[in-house]
Amino acid sequence: MNTAELPKALLHDHLDGGLRPGTVIELAAEYGHRLPADDPDSLQAWFNQGDSGSLETYLAAFAHTTAVMQTPGALERVAREAVEDLAADGVRYAEIRFAPSLHTAGGLEPTEVVAAVAAGARAGEEATGCVARLLVVAMRTMDDAAAVAKLAVASRDLGVVGFDVAGAEAGNPAGRFSGACQIVIDANLAITIHAGEGDGPTSIAQALHQCGAQRLGHGVRIVEDATVVDGEIAEVGSLAEYVRDRRVPLEISVSSNLHTGLYPSVEDHPVGMLHRAGFLVTLNTDNRLMSGTRLSHEFDLAVAHHGFTVDDLHVVTRRALEAGFGEWPVRQRLLTDIDAAYRAHGSTV
Ligand SMILES: [Zn+2]
Repeated sequence: MNTAELPKALLHDHLDGGLRPGTVIELAAEYGHRLPADDPDSLQAWFNQGDSGSLETYLAAFAHTTAVMQTPGALERVAREAVEDLAADGVRYAEIRFAPSLHTAGGLEPTEVVAAVAAGARAGEEATGCVARLLVVAMRTMDDAAAVAKLAVASRDLGVVGFDVAGAEAGNPAGRFSGACQIVIDANLAITIHAGEGDGPTSIAQALHQCGAQRLGHGVRIVEDATVVDGEIAEVGSLAEYVRDRRVPLEISVSSNLHTGLYPSVEDHPVGMLHRAGFLVTLNTDNRLMSGTRLSHEFDLAVAHHGFTVDDLHVVTRRALEAGFGEWPVRQRLLTDIDAAYRAHGSTV
């Protein structure tokens, strides 16, 4: 099965984690930023620190990408190229997320950051037909979440469809951000929160119940609220039952979880058992540059190591579109297209 040919939907992809290595090098030369390597292959290898083994080390690599994303031109280019690269991999609907506060070191106002990213995403969408929507992210390690929440709300006309809280989760549980999330909830904007990646069920519960998250960024550690027997989920605790039965979408990113040391091998990742146990699993890239991945590769991993069939990939893609925060009529039209394409590839769903 050539998964690159399959139409796909992507809910979790970071703008500052998906640059082309060549673009990082060109922008670094333009802005006088020193990189750890100066040819695209070596730089890709440096970023793809497969044995970094911790979320904190992994996050440190972002200092180099955000350093070259401090002008409207750079932000617009990176956003446009992101949509072009996703479209080339068969992605038809993408939600790309970014933290405006990471792009103000060069003097930009947060509103200018959002405007530049939105212009690039729009240009990418116009050039490729891949529907691109944006999520505005507040960083756990910063103290401006309420301002970022207000910015997200004020930016909905620019294609911002939701709000996220990201960054080092351990020691920064979601509940601390309930006030910022209430601003978003009161404005009827959607929320997804990174939870169940660097921390376990407690953080997931806070994201859902204190912050109103409608999806979970990663969320894989929900498996810690279940009993696993012979590689399958045999029993669920009350939180895992809630996540499964309320159909809370899990934005799962296998390669990313391996690179941060969450699981020692692809086989150890719970994506397969979660999917088989009825959890609402979606497959995502998280950070294409840092993890040296693309969505078709994430599909390939699920096929090769977790027994996913074309039917499973069809289900996962339908679920990602249904869980999207963008306008329903647009996603509904894409669902119809995607159903036809998967059935042409043998899906019986
Ligand atoms: Zn992420």
